[in-house]
Amino acid sequence: MSMINGFSPADAERLDEQERCLIERRERLLGPAYRLFYERPLHTVRGEGVWLYDAQGRRYLDAYNNVASVGHCHPRVVEAICTQAAHLNTHTRYLQEGILDYAEQLLATFSAGLDRVMFTCTGSEANDLALRIARHFTGGEGVIITRFAYHGVTGDISELSPSLGNGITLPAHARTVRAPDAYRLGAENVAATFAADVRAAIADLRAHGIKPAALLLDGIFASDGVFADPAGFLAEAVAAARAEGLLYIADEVQSGFARTGSTMWGFQRHAVQPDIVTLGKPMGNGQPIAGVVARAEVIESFGRSVRYFNTFGGNPVSCAAAKAVLDIIQEEGLQQRSAELGGYLLQGLRRLAERHELIGDVRGAGMFFGIELVSDRETKEPAPLATRRIVNDLRERGVLISAAGPRENILKIRPLLAFEKEHADLMLEALDQALGAGTY
Ligand code: PMP
Repeated sequence: MSMINGFSPADAERLDEQERCLIERRERLLGPAYRLFYERPLHTVRGEGVWLYDAQGRRYLDAYNNVASVGHCHPRVVEAICTQAAHLNTHTRYLQEGILDYAEQLLATFSAGLDRVMFTCTGSEANDLALRIARHFTGGEGVIITRFAYHGVTGDISELSPSLGNGITLPAHARTVRAPDAYRLGAENVAATFAADVRAAIADLRAHGIKPAALLLDGIFASDGVFADPAGFLAEAVAAARAEGLLYIADEVQSGFARTGSTMWGFQRHAVQPDIVTLGKPMGNGQPIAGVVARAEVIESFGRSVRYFNTFGGNPVSCAAAKAVLDIIQEEGLQQRSAELGGYLLQGLRRLAERHELIGDVRGAGMFFGIELVSDRETKEPAPLATRRIVNDLRERGVLISAAGPRENILKIRPLLAFEKEHADLMLEALDQALGAGTY
């Protein structure tokens, strides 16, 4: 009898049945709001380094995970978690060194001025808190976001996340601006267009009697379709917003922790200085820890009038994990690696664009890429079906990525920062094959 991935066909059949069972149980127990990746959902049972393993023992190269950024189950992070969990795990209403040691190390990665940090469990909570702080500080209410933004799941923040779908109604205090899309607007027009849109949004809020509080932007515009270039394009819009008394909240949940290359933070590519920065995802390599970094004066006016206690936010185990992550990034030179390997990957992806008509645009920074697929390079007509097929085809080939953008026609690729050159080559080869495999 022939074997599949070391299993007999009968075993494989049973495992498929197991997966069907799991899907049915999820629906029954968790309800319909949870969505799975891939047409053939992946049943992951183990992670190690850049690899995820399914129930049949097959391995998948993780080119999508911006959480386990330094590597799945990184031994140093696991050790830090276990040691702290075996010792003490309480909360922030007792004196402890761990949270302060981490806070010092984290704040040292920001330029002077951004010198306070508050801890939460999720990026959503961080954005929610940032918004409360901004509103308190400015006395305003209005918020400006991009058209297909994603900032999280709390009540206030989900309303500022149009990419959640048609069920989201933009509140009266929010205005959207077009994504800074160099592919469609032209690289030379991005900065001025984006700034003009922000100015118009501020004017419109005021015209409706709403005082603007904040410009809230994802540092890599991930859900809008991944927009990184030209570096510096944010400066004009941020200056315009700050001149009007708004605070600039840099949502670094996606673009932070060396993701966008040689800078630790995405906003640094644009040489802008945020008033508030929100952090999350890779911060604890899977341990739920997120945070808000801000200028002292911004945080203090809020903190003096509102008590803050988040039961799990900044707990000792999460802080130990986060400290291990930052140690790894700094000691293993992952910023440099993100820039160098990211540059190598970008070149490789651009070479693929020379051979595959379907690729309209290749963009990104560091280890974050968007590959826009179009059915016609002249009209730039999005090709969402082809995008979906390629994402699923790659999954079958053992490489995990996903899609983004309002039309879901942009391959979204975020390889773990733990990638080596051999993994980059594997990914490029699989993508080349997937692009060449069908008639799209
Ligand atoms: N902001 C951005 C830009 C995000 O991508 C996300 C999560 N995808 C969040 C905020 C919310 O983070 P969390 O899921 O940890 O609440």
